[in-house]
Amino acid sequence: MILIDGKKVAAELREELKKEVLNLKAKHNKIPGLTVILIGDMAPSQIYVRMKEKAANEVGLKSEVIKYPSEVEEKTVLEKINELNKDSSVSGILVQLPLPEHINKQKVIESIAPKKDVDGFHPMNVGNLSSGYDSSIPCTPLGCYLLIKTIEPNLSGKKAIIIGRSNLNGKPMTQLLLRENCTVTVTHSKTKDLKAECLKGDIIVAAVGIPQLVRGDWIKKDAIVIDVGINKTDKGIVGDVAFEEVSKVAKALTPVPGGVGPMTIACLLKNTIECFKKSN
Ligand code: NAP
Repeated sequence: MILIDGKKVAAELREELKKEVLNLKAKHNKIPGLTVILIGDMAPSQIYVRMKEKAANEVGLKSEVIKYPSEVEEKTVLEKINELNKDSSVSGILVQLPLPEHINKQKVIESIAPKKDVDGFHPMNVGNLSSGYDSSIPCTPLGCYLLIKTIEPNLSGKKAIIIGRSNLNGKPMTQLLLRENCTVTVTHSKTKDLKAECLKGDIIVAAVGIPQLVRGDWIKKDAIVIDVGINKTDKGIVGDVAFEEVSKVAKALTPVPGGVGPMTIACLLKNTIECFKKSN
């Protein structure tokens, strides 16, 4: 079984991005900039934002975090985004989710200029991705896709089973694999026989949020299994895949932690650079 080392692949990608930032700096005499808006004091959001800021600095991006207290008015956030949209030193804008209840998530997402939407959540980017046009691609599915490609460069005709249909993970993952000519089945909480569906998959992407849902006897021999799940349990952080069991059957599997997680952040940096290139 191949353990798909997300940390290593992400480190390689960050090295490439570092070189690209230097080249862009030489060519345009400016560097790509990522601005993150963080609202409130939720511990996980603060940790994620700190990780993103650190990673951005490490590859040489200009990085800025704008913090608001959880009571901030929606209007204030929208005005700030509008200002950032017009600021040519800002290549990418990310609003860390989740937001406090009084702030309308959809309104915030739609206020970000699509060309600066590093998360790929703006409806225009979602539409472009599903239409097969150029778009920002959500970071986690993009990371999963790049990991799958390290194992199998030619995905044409492969049967892919996506578990979960969230806008964040399952749906964009589906579009990416369709684009690669996979035959894609999207499963969710109402799917009748998930095990039977999984057993058909050459590729399984689990993005559910249920610890160790995917068992060893759900997996076809030689399948590539990508575990997106991050679940806190008494035994620490575990994925959506029963690692020990599945590792005995699968051809390749991502660990949790150290699989998809590091790729998500590296892909955010990649998206910021892509946004910069589109604007210059
Ligand atoms: P989400 O929005 O809660 O979506 C979960 C999806 O799983 C839904 O589509 C749901 O179906 C489906 N589902 C729930 N129970 C199911 C079951 N028993 N069988 C089949 N499908 C089922 O979750 P998410 O935001 O996509 O995140 C999924 C997991 O990935 C979480 O553990 C999250 O922490 C993790 N995550 C990791 C990263 C990373 O960087 N590694 C990034 C983001 C998220 P319905 O649509 O029918 O409700």
